[in-house]
Amino acid sequence: MTDITNETAGRIKKTANAIKKSRPAYSTIVDFYEKIFTAQEKSAAKSEIKPAQLSDDIVSIKTNEKFPLYSLSEFSVDINSARKLFKKICKIINKSGNHMSTASQIIFAANENKKIDFNELYAALLHDDDESFSNIAAKLNTDRDALAFITYNSIKPSLSMFAESASKYFDKDNIWGKGYCPVCGNAPVISTFESDGQRFLTCSFCWHKWAATRLFCPFCENKDSKSLHYLFSEDEKEYRIDVCDRCNKYIKNVDTRIITRFIYLPLEQIATLHLDIMAKEKGFESGVPLELQV
Ligand SMILES: [Zn+2]
Ligand SMILES: [Zn+2]
Repeated sequence: MTDITNETAGRIKKTANAIKKSRPAYSTIVDFYEKIFTAQEKSAAKSEIKPAQLSDDIVSIKTNEKFPLYSLSEFSVDINSARKLFKKICKIINKSGNHMSTASQIIFAANENKKIDFNELYAALLHDDDESFSNIAAKLNTDRDALAFITYNSIKPSLSMFAESASKYFDKDNIWGKGYCPVCGNAPVISTFESDGQRFLTCSFCWHKWAATRLFCPFCENKDSKSLHYLFSEDEKEYRIDVCDRCNKYIKNVDTRIITRFIYLPLEQIATLHLDIMAKEKGFESGVPLELQV
């Protein structure tokens, strides 16, 4: 393991501890995800992907037309690293005894018995081919959602690395102006305010981060201040929920200027589920399905 990975793992641990201290109700879920995210960082350090490579012409056509640069099926995945991580995630779930444990044990055993065709599995996920994916789950006699969780999380390091390699085609401070990810076309999972007050949105699939205007609903592209507002709690000034009256959707926002500890966005995302509950109680819907987020 490289020093950088050790450092990141240490920071995730510190962040997880800080969150557990201030919000003890999250201890179990944060413990679980700390293990998943640390395993992903370690896997990323050993993964190799074919970096994004596009001609200048293609980049300029796509960015001018506001098309995402890639479709998911074009993402490069390090299948060997992903397979090892797949096994590791199964073990983490098995040990956690959470709602996915029974399914995870079946999936782990299927993998040990070489019953999983990873090319087929990853292709089904990346082609968004729900029918094939459900068929694979049925063939393995296991729960589809648990299989999707393990599969997605096992390729997340590759997806993030590929998106990172594609980010060279963008000026990170340029406002993209669309509600979907400029790399892969998916909706954002979380919003942030950064050092100079600039707002960024982070993709729910490849975790690419792009600059956005502050008054903007990424789900219907509404910019009308009268129908955009936010909910917040006095106790947690670092978070708010941006809501849109036009499409009735919301996105959580982290003000990184207020938080002094290390911020690891995937942890912020899962350790703020009380905000999702608050938004739901007020009649708003998450912009991305919650089951894909956790
Ligand atoms: Zn993306
Ligand atoms: Zn909207």
